[in-house]
Amino acid sequence: MTLAVDLTGKVALVTGAGRGIGWAIAGALARAGATVAVNDLDATSAERTARALGAPARACPADVSDPQAAQEMIAKIAADLGGLHILVNNAGIEPHAPILEMSPDDWGRTLAVNLSAAFYTSQAAGRIMRAAGGGVIVNIASIAGHNIPLPNRASYVASKAGLVGFTKECAREFAAYGIRVNAVCPGVIATEMTAALRGNAAQMQKWLADIPQGRLGQPDDVAGVVLFLCSDAAAYLTGQAINVDGGKVML
Ligand code: NAP
Repeated sequence: MTLAVDLTGKVALVTGAGRGIGWAIAGALARAGATVAVNDLDATSAERTARALGAPARACPADVSDPQAAQEMIAKIAADLGGLHILVNNAGIEPHAPILEMSPDDWGRTLAVNLSAAFYTSQAAGRIMRAAGGGVIVNIASIAGHNIPLPNRASYVASKAGLVGFTKECAREFAAYGIRVNAVCPGVIATEMTAALRGNAAQMQKWLADIPQGRLGQPDDVAGVVLFLCSDAAAYLTGQAINVDGGKVML
């Protein structure tokens, strides 16, 4: 993927970047010249991504669903790396269970990681970006946030629909500070999150029958759109939820 975007001098935080889509986004932003702060719950995988990107990328392990940990991480990034210009809320989990079997803990954890974390990080980063005169926030939601059936994943669907709603309200509020806020809604992407279902031939056939482009997405398919949203080419684009799904959902 090549897209001529120059993010030299920008500091970017990507949450959940130890693998998968976050890894690809961190790589795309680093190749465009940004200094990338690589967050993940797991310190080893955050460090692995940061090492793969090379200096000046920095590992910032933290549980972004913990408001204090998220705020402290962002304050430290801004102090150590010279500000925070781009925030990509990518960390996510997808527990599977029918509603009648889902535990309150699983429900709460999904909402905390997929939705509340974006509020904690956007608030902390938004204050820094407002003081600096602007910035960019990209939330990795899902086509599941647009009323797409996803059996046994009610907490996930609720969290992603919430994240799309939060993106729009955040975009309205933050526009006055020069901060653009958008969501990217991936379809089925080949990562660890979909590994078990990708191993099921019947499920694969069902997915592919629904995707006009006839293939699952790759992490770089999402990263390219995130890179565009972080660039000046997207200067007049805010409050949008953009599907990256090979045409599966057309709104
Ligand atoms: P993934 O391979 O499971 O990666 C998610 C990453 O997030 C993992 O490295 C995980 O770390 C990290 N993470 C989880 N909870 C965290 C927390 N509390 N704090 C910090 N990091 C945390 O998933 P993916 O497929 O790359 O998905 C990335 C995002 O895209 C998610 O928001 C997902 O919902 C969204 N998405 C994915 C698809 C898809 O088909 N793959 C489709 C639509 C939307 P650990 O490994 O340490 O747990």
